[in-house]
Amino acid sequence: MALLTVIVPCYNEEENVKFFYEELMKNQSFFTSKGLEVEVLYIDDGSKDKTVEEVKKLRKKAENVHLVSFSRNFGKEAAIYAGFQKAKGDYVVMMDADLQDPPSLLPEMFSYLEQGYDSVATRRVDRKGEPPIRSFFARLFYRLMNRISKTDMVDGARDYRLMTRQVVDSILSMSEYNRFTKGIFGWVGFETKWVEYENVERAHGETKWNFWKLFLYSIEGITAFSTAPLAFASIMGVLMCLCAFGAIIFIIIKTLIWGDPVGGWPSMVCIIFLVSGVQLFCLGIVGQYLSRTYMEVKRRPIYLVKEEW
Ligand code: UDP
Ligand code: MG
Repeated sequence: MALLTVIVPCYNEEENVKFFYEELMKNQSFFTSKGLEVEVLYIDDGSKDKTVEEVKKLRKKAENVHLVSFSRNFGKEAAIYAGFQKAKGDYVVMMDADLQDPPSLLPEMFSYLEQGYDSVATRRVDRKGEPPIRSFFARLFYRLMNRISKTDMVDGARDYRLMTRQVVDSILSMSEYNRFTKGIFGWVGFETKWVEYENVERAHGETKWNFWKLFLYSIEGITAFSTAPLAFASIMGVLMCLCAFGAIIFIIIKTLIWGDPVGGWPSMVCIIFLVSGVQLFCLGIVGQYLSRTYMEVKRRPIYLVKEEW
């Protein structure tokens, strides 16, 4: 019998824990027909509500439920990493607790693994129910990312993925602290089949991502998988130098022809502001990479476990 591990990161998902399990187990006849044993691994990411209690209640009824509970909120990326580390399955699938990743897709996804794919990823074809401004920036991010990074990132890709043990081990071999899972999947490669589905709205509760969090997350993604901004800083510097040379020649010629009447201080002020702005911006870019390097060098654990069974 093969084992399928279902990783479920949970942060304040008390209403969804049981509901998710029930929905997942509607596939029971499929699991049995494929000779799949299923373990459901809830990763409690420091929830402040009754998520852990709910998982414990569920465990009393279902032997195949497991829990890893963090000492505090470490973020979804940390939860995913913990899930991969603790998963024992020959196949591993990662799903959100809010049922935005429909368990009914599993049979189809599994059939692709049988056809020889190493990993089956999902992508939603629309962004129904999402604020338009968020969709706009999300699209912009993916377009920019695919231009400046060699790693393939797919717009609308969810973290809902089914993969073989080999892929899981490859992901685990990337032990970096700043984890951007969407990029990591692209980076490890392997034969990936994309399955598309329409966006499903959250079953209960609210999304944990606001615009600002998503913005910071996108910077995480850019710095983790591209060094183009650093090159951009150098190019910007070269361009500014060229402009300065042009201006010097222009001023010399102008002075020789028309003399040097005092004036032009407003333009001078503008130039000073512009140049110092560009400098600070470029310094900021370097700072982003430096701070990531700093965090990486500290080698802190990605998460801390409080309870595990
Ligand atoms: N999540 C988590 N830690 C966090 C934030 C979210 O483990 O700090 C989990 C959350 O419980 C859910 C999944 O990650 O199972 C996706 O979160 P959410 O539904 O809020 O994101 P969205 O679907 O809106 O992108
Ligand atoms: Mg969700």
